[in-house]
Parts: sequence; structure tokens; C-alpha cells
Amino acid sequence: MNCRSCGSNSTVQFLSLGRQPLANNFLKPEEVGKEPLYPLDLVFCENCTLVQLSDESFVPRDILFTHYLYASSVAGGLRAHFEQLAKTLSNLVLKGSVVVDIGSNDGVLLKPLKALGMSAVGVEPAANLARKANEQGLDTLNEFFGRNAVSTIVSRYGHADVITASNVFAHLDKIHGFINNVKLLLKADGFFLVEIQYIADTIKDMTYDNIYHEHVFYYSLHSLTRLFERHGMRIFKAEHIGTHGGSLRVYVCKDNRIPDYSIEQLTSHEKELQLHRLETYQTFADELMKRIGELRNLFSTLKQQGKFVAGYGAPAKSSTMINSIKLDSDVIEYVVEDAPLKQGLYTPGSHVPIVGPEVLEQKPPDYIIIFAWNYADDIMKKLEKFKKQGSKFVIPMPKMKVIE
Ligand SMILES: [Zn+2]
Repeated sequence: MNCRSCGSNSTVQFLSLGRQPLANNFLKPEEVGKEPLYPLDLVFCENCTLVQLSDESFVPRDILFTHYLYASSVAGGLRAHFEQLAKTLSNLVLKGSVVVDIGSNDGVLLKPLKALGMSAVGVEPAANLARKANEQGLDTLNEFFGRNAVSTIVSRYGHADVITASNVFAHLDKIHGFINNVKLLLKADGFFLVEIQYIADTIKDMTYDNIYHEHVFYYSLHSLTRLFERHGMRIFKAEHIGTHGGSLRVYVCKDNRIPDYSIEQLTSHEKELQLHRLETYQTFADELMKRIGELRNLFSTLKQQGKFVAGYGAPAKSSTMINSIKLDSDVIEYVVEDAPLKQGLYTPGSHVPIVGPEVLEQKPPDYIIIFAWNYADDIMKKLEKFKKQGSKFVIPMPKMKVIE
């Protein structure tokens, strides 16, 4: 297949996670077993070093995002991140600057920007979120970011001093068209700020739960640089930040700004990790298969022993792991989820019923798998009384741990 970024045919598949459901496709009882499955394979481009979904794994965005027409607001922890980002931006540009946030959700970034005196405008395709933002007086266009949104914004607000895209960039398929539209909207001396999950962290920390169909691209600074170069744009600053288990924030411009020292620093970090070599990704895939095998063995042993196993937390992010180890309702009786929205539904692919926390009280499980593993400490604290009653915890990722 041809690389979606550089167009070369030097792509090599290095990972196959089999056929998997869409991670966000939680099922109503009547939908169980009818959900579509798609291959989940990653390829590496030997020309521009970009990691991306294989053609067979690519799910048309309209199929994927129909589920998003009623998407949820940004979670609590991320609000602080966006408040901080607004402050950072307000130190870089003058009051009254036009800042456009693409994929603006419920206005989580627009709100602090506006409070800091910016002329902030959002673009958000999910109708319920755009409405929520507009009701709070946070100007939001309810559409996908395209030529039409660009014309509307330019005529109402003028060209943008800053354009931001946090965690939408990896989801796009038509990246070249998207970047062209960013260039059209951006002032000559403005900048485009992108936040994406960082492949360096995925490789280093084995956080493979961010591999799913929504994410078409898995960027490094190098592969992003190559992409923007094709459009005559330049990354002049890069930051390694903590969101989503490790992200990269880059500042991109149309003019000839001198790149700052951060570029050199991150470039050498990527060289140390050998992110430019196919072998690095093959080693990652081998280690991943080993870890998946270990988890599978644990659960088949528990099943043979007739243990009562439950899960805790059903984030979309857990789908890749659950389906890679082929867990199903034979192994796990149910998954507990605090969010009422998911209760009564079934997990995609594995068909485990999702229940409220009260179900745990009825009979303490022998084992509780913490699917929301990045909150494991908080969850274990919350579930301490079950531990006292003899329940054991399994933290499945990044490396399996059983806590007795
Ligand atoms: Zn390429």
C-alpha cells in the first residue's frame, strides 16, 4: 500500500491484531454478535517513518463517527490540561487574537481562551457538543473542518492567529486536504498547534491500547516534520507532554521561523529509540504478542479453575486488549462501569455485560481485572473492601500484574 503521508509504496506491515470491532461500539442486547469486525494491522513507512493503519484496517470515517454524533464531553482530568494550554497560548499572542480550535468538543479550550481575552471560535461536528458550547456563549460551528468552515470563519472573524487541534489529527484520513485548509485559514505569521499521541511513548511503555481504528496515524516528530514539509510548513517547537499516556505537542508555521532547541532534543530522543528503523517496530510487535500470550494464559488458567472473574472500567481504550486476548463472557462474568450511559450495554467483540458497581456487592469476585489500568491505584483504593474479602486484582497493562 502507499503511505498516506509521503505517497511512497515502501510500507511494511509489522503488527497484526486480528479482526477487531470498533472500540467505541458498545452494543445494545439486540446488536450483540452483529457488530462488524475489521482487521487491525499497522504498517511502517520506510521512506518517511510514519506508522499508520493498513488499507484493510482503514474504516471509513463516516462509519466510525456516526457513533460520535452524540459524543461525550471531555473528562475532568483533561479540563485542567486545556486551561493550562489556554494560559500558554495567551503568553504567546496578543489579547484579541483569533484562535480557532478544531474538534472543540464542548468548548473546553474555548472557555479559558475567552476568559483570557482571546477571540476564540470552535469547529465541532458532534451536534450535542456544539450546542452545549454555543449555549455557554462559546462560538462554535457545527460541522467538520473543511473549506466551508474556513470561509465562514474568515468572513466572521478574519484569518486565525492560532489554530489548535488536540487529539483530532491522528484520526483524520485526508490529512493533505486538512493541512491545506489550515494554511488557508492561518495568518502568514500565525501558528498551528497540534497535540497527538506520541509513538515514542507507545513503543517505550508498551501502551498498545491506543492502537485502534479511530487512530489512523501514530506520529513521531520526524514523521510529522516530513508531512508538514510537503506543505511548505515547518515545526519550530515541540514539547513532550503527559496527556493520553504520553503526547507530542508541536507548533507549526508557514514562515521561516528558526526552530528552537526542543526540536534538536526530541530528534535525538527519537534517534536513541531508533524510531527510524523498521526493526524497532518489529521488536515492539514481538514483545506485544508475548504480553498478550501471558494474559491469555492467565485467563485460560482461571477459567479451568472455575474462578469467578469480573472486570472494572470499560473504556473504549480497553477494547484492543480485550479483543487481542480474546476474552469473552465465558471468562468474565461482567464489567463494572460507573458511567450510567454504558450500563446495560455489552462490550464490543467480547460481549461482556456492563453493569453498575452495586452488582459487585452481591458476590465478591475471585479476580477483578482493572481494564482502566491507568487509574489502577485509585480503583484499588476504592475496591479495598473486596480485597479484604479475598478478591485479587489483575492489572493487565502495560505489563500484567496480579495483586493479592
Ligand atoms: Zn511515508
